[in-house]
Formats: sequence, C-alpha cells, structure tokens
Amino acid sequence: MDSDTILRLVREVPDHDGFPLVDDLHARFDALAAAHPDRVTVTRIGTSRLGEPLHSYRIGTGSHAAVIVGGVHPNEPIGSWTALHLAETMLGDDAEATALDVTWHIVPTIDPDGMRLNEAWFHDPYDRVFYSRHFYRPAPDSQVEWTFPNNHKSVYFDQVLPETLAFMRLIDDTEPDLLVSLHNGEMGGVYYYLSEDLPDVIDVLHAVPRALGLPLDTGEPESPHLRELAPAVFAMDGVEEVHDYLEGLGVDPAEHIHGASSAAWALRHGALCMVAELPYWSHPDADDQTPTDESYADLLRRCADDLGGSGAELQRVLDAASPMLTIETPFLQGSRAFIPMLTATPETDRARAEREPADRMATVAERFGCEDLVRCFRLRYGGMLLRALEAETTAGTASAPLRRLRDDLAERYALWQADAVTDAAPIPVGKLVGVQYGAILACASHVADPHRASRPVSATIPGGA
Ligand SMILES: [Zn+2]
Repeated sequence: MDSDTILRLVREVPDHDGFPLVDDLHARFDALAAAHPDRVTVTRIGTSRLGEPLHSYRIGTGSHAAVIVGGVHPNEPIGSWTALHLAETMLGDDAEATALDVTWHIVPTIDPDGMRLNEAWFHDPYDRVFYSRHFYRPAPDSQVEWTFPNNHKSVYFDQVLPETLAFMRLIDDTEPDLLVSLHNGEMGGVYYYLSEDLPDVIDVLHAVPRALGLPLDTGEPESPHLRELAPAVFAMDGVEEVHDYLEGLGVDPAEHIHGASSAAWALRHGALCMVAELPYWSHPDADDQTPTDESYADLLRRCADDLGGSGAELQRVLDAASPMLTIETPFLQGSRAFIPMLTATPETDRARAEREPADRMATVAERFGCEDLVRCFRLRYGGMLLRALEAETTAGTASAPLRRLRDDLAERYALWQADAVTDAAPIPVGKLVGVQYGAILACASHVADPHRASRPVSATIPGGA
C-alpha cells in the first residue's frame, strides 16, 4: 500500500464523541463477528483478574501476522476506536485495504477491568480537569504493558498478570511480523516508538499527522535515555539500554526497572514493533524550538523541585490516611506505587542536570514538556488518591479524621486544577484515531512488502528463554 492510499484512508476515519465503554466496544466487535461469520474468527485468549473473558478477533488470511492490542494501559482508550476502525475497514469493501497480505489478530482491550475504572470521563475527554479527577492508571506491577518477564543483570521479574499471560500466548501462537500495542499520551504533539530504523515507514509516520494538521512532539522526550531515529520517532530500546543509562547516572537500575514490555516479548519472533503516542490536547509550545532564557539544567532542577514538593504533599496525606484505610481499592494500590515515584524521580532529574552544560538553553518545547509533566502527575495521582479516600467516605467506613484528610486534599487539589493549562486545544478524536490507524497501515505495508529483505531478528532476547 503506497503512502497516498494510506493518507486517503486516514482522511476517511470518522470522528467520534468521546470513547466507547468496555461493554459497547465488545458489543461492536461481536456484532462485526456475527455479521461476517466466515471472515472473523473469535478466540478466547484468557481471563481478566476480575473474571472477564479476553478475546482476539482474527480477520484476513494474509501470509503476515499482525497483532494489535488495545487497553495495555487502560487509561489510554484512543486505541479502542482504532482497533474497531481497523477491523471494520479490513472487513469492508475498500479494495486496497483488504488487499494487504496480512492476517490481523485484534484484541479490543486486554485490561477491561482497568478500563472500566476510567469510564467516567470517556464521554468527555476534552476537559483535563474532569478527566484527571476520574482518572485511573494501574500501579506498574498491575499494568499489562510492563509485566512481561524480564531477566537482565540485577533485574529479574516474573510476576506476570493473567492478562499479560494471555497476551504472551497470543504473541507466541501467532509469531507476529508486526506488533502494535495501542498507547496514547496526553498533552502536546504526536510521537512514536519504532523497533527498527525504517526511513520509508518514518516518512509516512511524519506525513500522517501533517495531513491531519496535528503537530509532532519535538520537546522533552518521555524518558531521558531515549534514542531519536528521526524527529518525534524514538528507538524502542530494550531493558539493556535503560539499565546502562541508570547505572551511568549512579542510580540503582533494580529500583526503577521491573517487568519488560510486550515489544520485548514480540522481538523474540522478530516482529516489527510500533507505538503511536497521541495527545488529547495540543499546545503550540510543544513544537516550538525557540530558545528560552533559562538553562536546560535550571529547568530540570526547577521542575524536579516542583514535582518533588507535590509528591511530598501527597505522601504526607497517604501516610496520615494509611492506618485508617480499610478498603484495598486499585486507586489505593496505584497511589502507593506512584506517589513515592513522584518524590524519587526528581533525584534522577537533579543528577541529569549536573551533566548538562550551564550554557545550554532550554527550548520553549522543552520548558513546556517539563512543566506539563508536573501538572500532569499532580492532577493524575492527586486525583487517584482522592478516589482512594472517597471509596471510604462513600462506603461509610471513613472516620472523622479521614474525612478531614479527604477535604484537605480536595482543597489542595483544587489549586492544581486551577493551574491546569487552559489554552490547550482539544484534538478531534477522529484525527487521533487517524494517526494511529495510518501508522498501523504504514508498518503493515512494510512487513507485507514482497520485496522486503528477510526481517532482522533482535540479537538479545529480553526476558530470557
Ligand atoms: Zn501507555
């Protein structure tokens, strides 16, 4: 499939109001399967922790396998529409789409339990304050994406979740040529992770957001060790690179690295792995390379202080509340994992700042990225801690001191809400789906290209044999 066709298909993606609830998403997939019994094969691949069956929908009979999985982070639902749109077009009458020599294995959401805990904001993803207040992200050891087996030097992880085990089996059974786990970001611009440096694919990854009028995210990368293949396209490096980076900073890698990603598992089969990170809101600063009058090192230190300060405030509330909490909610489990990270991350940032030359000035994009991460984390994890405390006030199990802690936190949280960026522009959901869908088509076209040389298999096998 050439890039003109991909851009045409991308422009045809319909817009949506918000995101589908889990039951609605499953019903839509089941309706597709019922309408095309000869072209869709539904396979149960596992069971969620709360007992919900997990299904993969196989579509097409091509000689290249592509595994597309949504809900790997259940707070990232753009992929719900992408998975559905992909399934619909591959069952539709567009001759160029259905001519791709690919068999698709699509999982609408691999973590339905976690996704349901985000459903309160799905009808209105445009208001950041509302979104954050109803936000849920599982603790790292409860995220499907980061609980694949890991075994590298001081790092050893084998606490695989049932959903992750289902995902592992799907990868091992299909030995995919392409793996796309459907993620999204929150604020700024579009960026990608790609497991191979493929200029033909990267050209399309750049062309798709351009065609839809969306900016690339060229500011502060999500993690400082990331290797850039092209603007806003990062190498999907394995645990080895992160381990070396942290060791070089004098930070103990075993404290920061736990499970591996789905990509690490799929690389065992030589899959091309791609992730498209998409924001709900764009901001002009996210792609502005103008230098500021603050050095990059000072920016890192200032944001480290802000984040550490907010983390310490949340930690005080959590510590004071802990003896009075009786309900072990996912919000509490997440708070116990993330709040200490808010106080630990600044330590790494201050160590990074020491290595930056004093005369290296931060760009507007970097300033926006660093400052917005502080806003994002306060709103997310302050909101989750509030939900943990409110589980008790709602259930009638909260003592008077616990109620007062809840009220104090709500007051502090309101200040952070007032500080949320208000001049960010919500992006129509259809365009976000279009970018993810176009990126999948670009990668699928590459792996299905009959003229492509045989695929390179990763030299390292993360997670061990
Ligand atoms: Zn994610």
